[in-house]
Amino acid sequence: MVEKTLLASGSPITQRIDAVKALLAWKQVSSDPLPQEVSLDSGRLVLVLSKKKDCYYVTTANGCSCPAATYHHGPCKHQKKYFPQEENIRDSLPGWPNGLHGPVEVI
Ligand SMILES: [Zn+2]
Repeated sequence: MVEKTLLASGSPITQRIDAVKALLAWKQVSSDPLPQEVSLDSGRLVLVLSKKKDCYYVTTANGCSCPAATYHHGPCKHQKKYFPQEENIRDSLPGWPNGLHGPVEVI
């Protein structure tokens, strides 16, 4: 459910640190130290800690909330790193299934 709210607007939105901490607490995952990346929904959504460690970017196969992706209107380094194989088929991916959430792995 929480994952869904991350994409409520239809596109990834950068998350505040305290929001991600709350998410991690809800999932009973330690946020001390802050993880560099948090894989959600069976890896279809990745939270990436910003360089300044002041926020988390939200990366999916369809988009990323980081400034580079917004500026270039295209795949950024996060998408290339986490979803390299989906670059060409991302327009044909199905939508988010209702209520179907896989196991959560924190890398
Ligand atoms: Zn990015």
